Order: sequence, then C-alpha cells, then structure tokens
Amino acid sequence: MIEVRDLVYEYPAKRALEGVSLVVPPQTIVALVGPNGAGKTTLLRCLAALEPPYSGVVTIDGLDTREHPREIHTRLGYLPDFYGLYDELTVRRCLTYAAWSHGIVVTAVEGAIAKAAERVGLSDRMESKAGELSRGLRQRLGIGQAIVHEPKVLLLDEPAAGLDPQARRDLSVLLLSLREAGMTLVVSSHILAELEDYCSEMIIIENGRVAGGRPIKVKDVDRPRYLIEIATARSDFGKFLKDAGVDVVEADEHHALIIHTRNAAARAKLLHDLVTAGFEVSSFGESSKALEETYFSQIGKRTA
Ligand code: ATP
Repeated sequence: MIEVRDLVYEYPAKRALEGVSLVVPPQTIVALVGPNGAGKTTLLRCLAALEPPYSGVVTIDGLDTREHPREIHTRLGYLPDFYGLYDELTVRRCLTYAAWSHGIVVTAVEGAIAKAAERVGLSDRMESKAGELSRGLRQRLGIGQAIVHEPKVLLLDEPAAGLDPQARRDLSVLLLSLREAGMTLVVSSHILAELEDYCSEMIIIENGRVAGGRPIKVKDVDRPRYLIEIATARSDFGKFLKDAGVDVVEADEHHALIIHTRNAAARAKLLHDLVTAGFEVSSFGESSKALEETYFSQIGKRTA
C-alpha cells in the first residue's frame, strides 16, 4: 500500500531524510517513532504527497507522489502534528468543508459527515463551534476531517498529544476499527506504551534513516515476546536459549527477551529445561512492552 525507495529529502540547509526505504502492507497500523528531529514529520509529509522527494520514489496505492499528488489526496487522510480548525464554524460545517475539499459528490456529503462524526464520537456535538471544543474533542474533529472521504491510507502525526487517558483509549479503539474497515495507518508518537495497543509494526527513524533498515514486526499473535529473568547471573544464558532453538531478541546475564510459541506445553518444556540446567528462573511471562524493548534495542545498536 505504501512503498518508499531510497527517499532523500532536503530542506535548504538540512538533509532531513537520507535514503529511506520501506514497505507498509495494506490494513496494518504502523508506529513511526524516533528521537526529536529524526525526520518523522518530514517522512509523513513526503508520504502525504505534500513534499516531492529530492531523490527516490514514494508510491501510495501504486501511485507516484511526484506524478499523481491530487489522485493520492483523494485516497489519503493526513492529520499534521499542528493544524488549525475554523473556530467559528460548527463541527457540521468543518466536516462539510473537509468533505467538499476532498471532492465528495454533493449528494453523498451528508452521509459522509454523519459517518465520520459517529466514528470519532462527535455526533452529539454537530452544532458546537470548533472553537468551543476541548483539546480532545478538537483532536477528534481533526481526525474526523481526515477520514471523511474514507481514505485507504491514514497518516497521523502525534494524534494522542494532549488527550486524557479515556480519550487515548477511545483513539486506540477508533484506529483499530479503521484498520478493520480496511485502512492502512501510519501513526507517529513519542508515547510507546500507547502505540503498543494498536500497532503491529514499527518504523524507527533516527538521523533521517530507518534504524535496522526496515519496519520491524513488533507483535505476532501466535508468537508473542516473553521476558525471562533469572535470580543468579549466568553468562551462558543467551547461548543456552539459542542452542535450545529459541528465537532470542536480546539477552544479558540476568534477562532474556525471546519470541516463542504461545503453546502452553512448549513453554512448560522450556521452563523445565531451564530449571533442569540450573537456571534460577524468577520470572517468565509475556512481555507487555514489545515496542519499547524493540525501540531501545534498535537505538542501542546504532549508538553502540
Ligand atoms: P519531532 O519528534 O521533534 O517532531 P521529527 O522526527 O518529526 O521531530 P522533522 O520535523 O521531520 O523531525 O525534522 C527533521 C529535521 O529537519 C530536523 O533537523 C529539523 O530541524 C529539520 N527541519 C524540519 N523542518 C524544516 C524546515 N522547514 N526547514 C529547515 N529544516 C527543517
């Protein structure tokens, strides 16, 4: 759905993207993460066909952003990190304006804005002015405007900034439902724990490049990540696991992060083997921080 090949982007005095290549398959939600100034917003703007590449190719749904920006805009929704709303317009008028801008045929506008409002939970605020909405509701309106034309691809730049815990949870549910409805989403955020709820892959941008060279699959329902801890340090911990055929993400003398089958008998056998080999296992459980662990292991690799 999204393909980027050797993308280089330069501002007048700054090369912001340095040979980015990646593929985002349809109907996935990908987290876009990285330190401040790494190039995330620039990459999103290139994906949104708002910035032409200095070199390289970006295609959205098979269309080149340089050659077909207008067609891409009809298939794509983009919520920037900072954006303005027309404060004097009601929610209904804001959504109507967005629908018109996206070229929705006049007869379909009413249905489109009703659906978008319902999706973002604003159906009961249609007559409120945008300027009267709280931060969280403004954010919902921004997302509503970005999805009113039912795009195939949705790009969100820090959509959860400033949202309260309930609104963040609502956002997770909304993004998952949009994926279920067939959309492909790229979501940038600095809050890894929140991306954990809905992202299955992660792109780490660091100094204008993709760390690790490609998007990283962070979640697999059948083969989750497990964190094993041992009470007494053993330098052969990682090697033992690898020799036992276990997929080890990282290991030190006390901890190992592994990818392993969900099968209970296979997990019981691994635990038994560890204990039999004298490892004092103090904890063995599914990791709930897949993104965070992957992020720091990748960032660590580049700086090591
Ligand atoms: P953050 O997490 O802080 O939002 P980011 O990963 O989104 O950062 P970008 O905004 O893409 O990073 O910026 C990438 C680099 O390009 C930074 O060094 C930034 O200073 C530079 N940059 C961004 N916009 C411009 C601009 N309009 N002109 C010149 N340089 C820019």
